[in-house]
Amino acid sequence: MNIQMVDLRSQYLKIKDEVDEAVLNCIDSAAFINGPSVNEFVSDLARYIDCRHVIPCANGTDALQIAMMALGLQQGDEIIVPAFTYVATAEVIALLGLVPVLVDVHPGTFMLDVNDVTAKITDRTKAIVPVHLFGQCADMESLISLAKAHQLFIIEDTAQAIGATYTFSDGYRGKAGVMGDIGCTSFFPSKNLGCFGDGGAIFTSNDEYARRIKMIANHGQERKYYHDVVGINSRLDTLQAAVLRVKLQHLDRYAISRNEAAAFYDNALSVLEEEMIIPQRVSNSTHVFHQYTLKVKNGKRDQLKEYLQKNGIPTMIYYPLPLHFQKAYQSDNYQPGSFPVAEVLCTEVLSLPMHTEMSEQELNFIVSNIKQFYSK
Ligand SMILES: *Cc1c(COP(=O)(O)O)cnc(C)c1O
Repeated sequence: MNIQMVDLRSQYLKIKDEVDEAVLNCIDSAAFINGPSVNEFVSDLARYIDCRHVIPCANGTDALQIAMMALGLQQGDEIIVPAFTYVATAEVIALLGLVPVLVDVHPGTFMLDVNDVTAKITDRTKAIVPVHLFGQCADMESLISLAKAHQLFIIEDTAQAIGATYTFSDGYRGKAGVMGDIGCTSFFPSKNLGCFGDGGAIFTSNDEYARRIKMIANHGQERKYYHDVVGINSRLDTLQAAVLRVKLQHLDRYAISRNEAAAFYDNALSVLEEEMIIPQRVSNSTHVFHQYTLKVKNGKRDQLKEYLQKNGIPTMIYYPLPLHFQKAYQSDNYQPGSFPVAEVLCTEVLSLPMHTEMSEQELNFIVSNIKQFYSK
């Protein structure tokens, strides 16, 4: 058995004809930059997530950077981000001379702890960046009301949760990435909607933000060769858009496959409750299981990882360090103990293989190896 964390090849083979045709058409037309597939994909995606504007760009990190630039944030402005996330979220903040203000996360959902967000708001706070980690939505209802009360922007990092749906207490439903001022996503190959290279997109319902986002992503110009602001060069290749347009049609089915694998794991592993905690579901969000992440108790995470590796089962640690332990983001303001939940999570989390093509045989093999580890 050749078990992989993410099996992109098997996924491709199932839709090979559709993808190959789209890619070959694109090559045949030679419209590699801003070809027709880009706009077609962008309108399909806008319809799918129900958002007025979807602006494509080169990757998820650029999406975050462009969003911050479009909101006119100034040097020294404080931006609240979770201490437990992928580095890109904080990286662009630091690059722009803004100040990333780290906040601890909830021990069950791994996402922004609203109480700690409240405690970290100052006169200089300008935005909150909820990261919809591992495939479900952060506590948007609380965060949006906090943002309203303090006049803060919300920039959603939905690189891991495209397609997840959040239900507010009044019954209103929003897709991940369209609830805040601006949403940012990534089409990195292993993301739930991944292309065959790098890609990203920015979502907003605000016409003025959309105008600025488009301008910034295109060298600060609206009219060719007239540059009104300092921008960057960030585009989605036509070939990538062609692939994404095909894969978007399968995204809901992919989420179902991921949920089936997750349900299998949940079922099989719940008997090991003394040893591990299965992923907690947020009650008002659907889960698209970008990752299936256990919390392994009793200090056995690394031994379990090694045991599984020896038996041909890959696992990953997302993430081994909280941001304040990363050399680049160390600061006198933070010490060990500053974010106790994030720090403990980094010693406990273990993500199991999770993708759209997992067979029952593979799932059985993974689970029985986990059980064997504990039966010794
Ligand atoms: C993948 C990811 C990004 C960055 O996306 P790239 O396309 O790799 O630049 C940002 N934030 C989160 C949470 C991610 O998982």
